[in-house]
Amino acid sequence: MTSQHPTPLSVAIIGGGAAGTLAAIILAKLPGIGGITLLDRDGRFGRGLAYSATQPWHRINVPAYKMGGVGADDPEGFADWLAANGHAAGPDYSTAFVPRAAYGDFLCAQLAEVSAGGRLDMRVDAALAVEKHGDGYRVATASGDIIESRLVFLCIGNHPPSDFAGVVPSPRSISNVWATGALDPIGADDSVMVIGTGATAVDVVIDLVHRGVRHEITMVSRRGLLPRIDVVPVADPDPVKSWPGKTVRGLLQRLREDIRHKAALGIPWQTAIDSFRLYTSELWQGLSATERARFSRHLRSIWLAHRHRLAPDVAALLEQLQRGQRLRVIAGRVTAATTTATGHHVTLRRRGRGTLDLATHWILNCTGPEERYDKVDDPLVQSLLASGRVRPGPNGLGLDVDSGCRLIDRAGHSQPGLFAIGPATRGTFWEVTAASNIRKQLLGVAEAL
Ligand SMILES: Cc1cc2nc3c(=O)[nH]c(=O)nc-3n(C[C@H](O)[C@H](O)[C@H](O)COP(=O)(O)OP(=O)(O)OC[C@H]3O[C@@H](n4cnc5c(N)ncnc54)[C@H](O)[C@@H]3O)c2cc1C
Repeated sequence: MTSQHPTPLSVAIIGGGAAGTLAAIILAKLPGIGGITLLDRDGRFGRGLAYSATQPWHRINVPAYKMGGVGADDPEGFADWLAANGHAAGPDYSTAFVPRAAYGDFLCAQLAEVSAGGRLDMRVDAALAVEKHGDGYRVATASGDIIESRLVFLCIGNHPPSDFAGVVPSPRSISNVWATGALDPIGADDSVMVIGTGATAVDVVIDLVHRGVRHEITMVSRRGLLPRIDVVPVADPDPVKSWPGKTVRGLLQRLREDIRHKAALGIPWQTAIDSFRLYTSELWQGLSATERARFSRHLRSIWLAHRHRLAPDVAALLEQLQRGQRLRVIAGRVTAATTTATGHHVTLRRRGRGTLDLATHWILNCTGPEERYDKVDDPLVQSLLASGRVRPGPNGLGLDVDSGCRLIDRAGHSQPGLFAIGPATRGTFWEVTAASNIRKQLLGVAEAL
């Protein structure tokens, strides 16, 4: 590509979270890349949503060394940086679940090095539209700027959940718990119902406890599954190399066999899951739309609870809260929620156990990011979909991309030079949210460039 284009390729990256930051760092190292403009509407460069967390109890959900570095050649880059930068007195980074802010600090430090090279222009601005222009694109921004570039990377990350079906929006229902100050109005004696039991829901429960909420907190999800505990990593002595990749049932059977086989050798189930994860993107791409839908319907929440795990002390805290009747977890779904003078009256249909009526001051929607981009209330996403420059991804998830992360337009054509990275590509690759997966995606694109 560089020989066809002797002029360095200019790059616009939309989104300055972990994905956009890693993109800037990785692309800046490539020969043939010219100026890079990195846009973030919130100015959260190097941090984005996950790594802007400020509190020490907002922890990375894997041991630090598993976060990797920034390139292909520094697999323990983050752990090395922790040791070299004032965290030396810290614990062993092969087992430590450090605060998420530390990973944000690490990315910011790497970004500062690229910025010092003079080719990176970081702007606090929102991209509103991307249009084709000659060999490249024009990005229109909220401030009225037009950025012309040959390559555009959409790294727009996680979008807040849509309003929760069945819950009438009220001042006491919080649909975006990630918004700054969202939990501030909750009082210490208020009762709170958290809808969702995944990583975001756990983060919120721990936040509420640290904020001094004394009342019992109720968590509700269809299966009532909290993320499972993580353990000190154990190398897989016998990884499965070939998976029966046509049906979800076949995969589940094989994974169970592997877990049983490893258990007999004294290897924890977590190791089997981690080995399987190396293949999930490839296997997802091989499944039919029907099989993917089957997975989403029956297995998704079980998979997520085993795949996104908890630092052991966070798991211990949740257990302690449950034992002390400060937290209860209900498997069921909200069938009705009406507003009352003090909050809400909620009817739950419990899994296999009839209905339950509850009064709660607050309802918090922690069901995770909106994955269907046709429902995402964002001007850039909506303008891209309306123009036909992009289309929804497989099974309606994210945006459609080809195997090289190039966005596919409504007519089914890959858009040269227009890429999406990270959560927006989950329909095609599924396993694209963890920092390590995002880096892998970017290294693949960099290699192709
Ligand atoms: C609460 C939480 C905890 C997590 N914990 C971990 C963990 O411990 N380990 C792990 O590996 N992964 C974790 N993840 C996964 C996480 O999603 C990824 O690691 C990563 O943060 C995703 O980065 P991103 O840049 O794609 O998205 P985001 O962090 O969402 O960043 C996207 C950025 O793009 C900006 N943006 C969006 N649209 C526009 C626009 N039109 N114009 C300009 N800017 C725009 C946004 O303002 C935002 O700053 C966690 C995720 C969440 C939500």
